[in-house]
Amino acid sequence: MEKAENMPPEAIWFLFNSDRLLLRTPANGPDALCRSAGPPFPPAGKVHILGRHEGILCKACLAHLPGAEQGFVQVGLRAAYDILGEPLYRLAGKGREMIHWEEHTRHCPACGTGTEPDTHLSQRCPGCGRLLFPHITPAILALVRRRDRILLVRARTFTGPHYGLVAGFLEPGESLEECARREVLEETGLAVGNLTYFGSQPWPYPSGLMVGFVTDNADGEILLQEEELIHAAFFPRLGLPALPHPLSLARRMIDAWILDMDRHREPPLPRLPLLQK
Ligand SMILES: [Zn+2]
Repeated sequence: MEKAENMPPEAIWFLFNSDRLLLRTPANGPDALCRSAGPPFPPAGKVHILGRHEGILCKACLAHLPGAEQGFVQVGLRAAYDILGEPLYRLAGKGREMIHWEEHTRHCPACGTGTEPDTHLSQRCPGCGRLLFPHITPAILALVRRRDRILLVRARTFTGPHYGLVAGFLEPGESLEECARREVLEETGLAVGNLTYFGSQPWPYPSGLMVGFVTDNADGEILLQEEELIHAAFFPRLGLPALPHPLSLARRMIDAWILDMDRHREPPLPRLPLLQK
C-alpha cells in the first residue's frame, strides 16, 4: 500500500472533454471542481500545471470518460465563468488553451514527425529539432466615442441579441494601434483620433489575446461593412442596446465608459484631440 507521504498533494482538477469542462453536479460554485490528489477520470494526454488557486495547485487535462459520468455535467467556458467565478474561469481558460496547443502540436508542422515534450511550454521535434511554443493570436477592440455617445456594432457572427465593440485580428507587419485604426475604418468607414490603451484579456476561444483601445471620432457617416456587420450606430448612455457578457473585455470597456458618463454628466466628457491625417 502506498504511504500517505508519497501521495501527491491535493490539486484542483480542470478536466476537459474536447472544449467542454467537466463539473460536478450541482454545478453552482467553486466546489463543482474536483479537489483530489489524482484526477477523477484517467488523463487522455498531458497533465498541464496551471498555477495555484488559494494556495492549491491547479491541473488540467483531457479526460478518458466512461460515457456515463454520473454526478457530472459538461459545460462550455462561458458557462464556467457564471458557475465558478472569475479566478477559476481564468484558470479553466488557461487549461483549455494549453490543451488546444497540445492537440495542435502532436506533429511537427515542418517535417511531420511526432513531437516530444520539451518544457511545460514547448514541444520538440526529434526529426528537425524545431521547438513549438503555444501560439497566441492578438486581436483589438476599439471603443469609439463621439461626444456623449459610443459606437456599437452588431456582427453577423453574434449569437445573442447584443451589440459589441469594433474588433478584429492583428495582421502581419501591423502594430496594435494600426490594427485598431484599420478595423474601425474597414468596418464603419470612420477615421479615429488618438488611441488610449485600456487593457488586455486572454481570450481562450481558442487562444486569443484581446487588446482594448479607447478613441474618438467627431463626425462622418457610418459606411457599414456588410459582409461582417448587420448594424452599427452611436448610442447614448441612456439608450444602450443589449451589451456583451460581463466576462468580456468589451463589456468592461463599455462599463468604464458608462461610469465615466455618470460621473461627468455635466459637463460632457472631454474629447481627445483628433488624429493627424
Ligand atoms: Zn520537424
